Amino acid sequence: MQPDACSSPPCNGPVLRAPSFPILTLDERRLTPSLGYVFNRKWLHPCESLISIVWNFEKADALPGHVVARLMGPDIDPHEGIVPQLGTVDIQRLRDTLAVPMKTLRTSLLLPSHRRRYSGLFRYCHRCVARGYHSVLHQMEGVGMCPAHRQPLETACRRCGYEAQCLASVQLLEAPYRCAYCRASYGVRGALSR
Ligand SMILES: [Zn+2]
Ligand SMILES: [Zn+2]
Repeated sequence: MQPDACSSPPCNGPVLRAPSFPILTLDERRLTPSLGYVFNRKWLHPCESLISIVWNFEKADALPGHVVARLMGPDIDPHEGIVPQLGTVDIQRLRDTLAVPMKTLRTSLLLPSHRRRYSGLFRYCHRCVARGYHSVLHQMEGVGMCPAHRQPLETACRRCGYEAQCLASVQLLEAPYRCAYCRASYGVRGALSR
């Protein structure tokens, strides 16, 4: 049975609500949509991380994390995951599936060098995450504050203290903008004070 196609993607910015019904059929073996993914390039923001891009993509298309994790490369173990780093992720495969420009995908990935290092833990700005945004800049060691909000970057969940690895894995991808352990939102206001 074919579900109804959604012909007009939501256009209300990067904070998206997952539709309550399936909007595509997916041949998981080939990882190609039968009706086409809903993804609007306007949702992309400068320096947005790949994790953030695919989180928005998951929310729009109501796709499970293990499917999205497999978009990172044909041979990766979705549960083990991979570092979202240039040279590791199959950006051609992502481009073909998400229709996101190669240039955007390249800048969404970590680019380590002898002078530039990245945190192995997922680091976030509370206020950015509340708006459905995470940046590659947040992952840079030596950057302690969000460049946009001048707020300290955090790694621990405010509810349970869990620190997630920055890996494109099922665990992280199945909890968009949330703690992968207790599922508390990283962006909920006042979570620290209660
Ligand atoms: Zn911020
Ligand atoms: Zn938690």
